[in-house]
Amino acid sequence: MSRPFNFSAGPAVLPEEVLQQASAEMLDWNGSGMSVMEMSHRGEEFMSICERAESDFRLLLAIPPAFRILFMQGGGLAENAIVPLNLSRGEQADFVVTGSWSQKSRQEAAKYCDARTAASSQADGYLRIPNADTWALREGSRYVHICSNETIHGVEFSTLPDLKALGCDAPLVIDFSSHVASRSVDWSRVGLAFAGAQKNLGPAGLTVVVVREDLLGNSLQACPSAFDYRVVADNRSMYNTPPTYAIYIAGLVFQWLLRQGEADALGVAAMERRNTGKSQSLYSAIDGSGFYVNRVEPACRSRMNIPFFLRDELRNDAFLNGARTRGLLQLKGHKSVGGMRASLYNAMPVAGVQALIAYMREFEKEHA
Ligand SMILES: *Cc1c(COP(=O)(O)O)cnc(C)c1O
Repeated sequence: MSRPFNFSAGPAVLPEEVLQQASAEMLDWNGSGMSVMEMSHRGEEFMSICERAESDFRLLLAIPPAFRILFMQGGGLAENAIVPLNLSRGEQADFVVTGSWSQKSRQEAAKYCDARTAASSQADGYLRIPNADTWALREGSRYVHICSNETIHGVEFSTLPDLKALGCDAPLVIDFSSHVASRSVDWSRVGLAFAGAQKNLGPAGLTVVVVREDLLGNSLQACPSAFDYRVVADNRSMYNTPPTYAIYIAGLVFQWLLRQGEADALGVAAMERRNTGKSQSLYSAIDGSGFYVNRVEPACRSRMNIPFFLRDELRNDAFLNGARTRGLLQLKGHKSVGGMRASLYNAMPVAGVQALIAYMREFEKEHA
């Protein structure tokens, strides 16, 4: 029996092959006689799992040697505090607010530094990204924060801003929680990137941080040692016990991603192409109907999280119930936005998107 299609925004769908492998290895990993959950994090078995996960992630996203990869805990929301604790020096930082997540980041950072909004699309209902040449970036800011994919509002930076070209020397910090590994990253434009694993990498509990080496070592006195990037980096993510099982599953996802290939594209490049195709077919089904609507400016539309609305909101419950009976799960929109949201992460097969579109057409025919 095939599994239903799961459109959850997170924790989210994982590749079936990964779940099967984890299931087969649950009681005995690789002849060790132990489940990965039962291993010492300092033992050679787990060390090999962790090192492979790190090097596969580096390979997958072409992360240059000047960056460190840290496996931490606390999720994206904890990073909203951990980043200013490590980078702000209690001084100033600038935020581009394009949805709920970047707004939350600014508010949390304001506990630790002078955190100011450099640009915001809040007045436009978060339907677009303010042009970079209108951003009010301040001289002397310790970093500039963006959320490169707004999971709730469905807004994505199609390319990362080039701060140097804007006359700004501060490092760019990106919250890429909900589109990490969905496309390539131009690391020449990035100082630090963080992602909670539960959207596109693996189970909840693991947070991946990619940080340029020269940004380490400037934490505030009050920064907890377990959240000090210098300490975590010096201890190869083993200062405290890392989320071992989540690292193992994420490692299996990285191996799965590296196996994905299409004609001339491998790994993330193949995923990027597939993700573009999946999202385009859903957006054109929405735009081509008079029944469904997505109001995000087309150039800023997310390829991962696609909010959409029924023009007749009274039919929302009927739509969701019908979807569930067809094995299309977790399509309800975020409570702050309403309507529907389809998250099309890497592990969502093309067939899932096709099944959703077929159902949407059928529902429209029945109710239009
Ligand atoms: C889900 C999400 C977060 C929050 O992650 P937690 O693990 O719940 O702290 C932060 N930023 C973005 C963009 C997200 O999608």
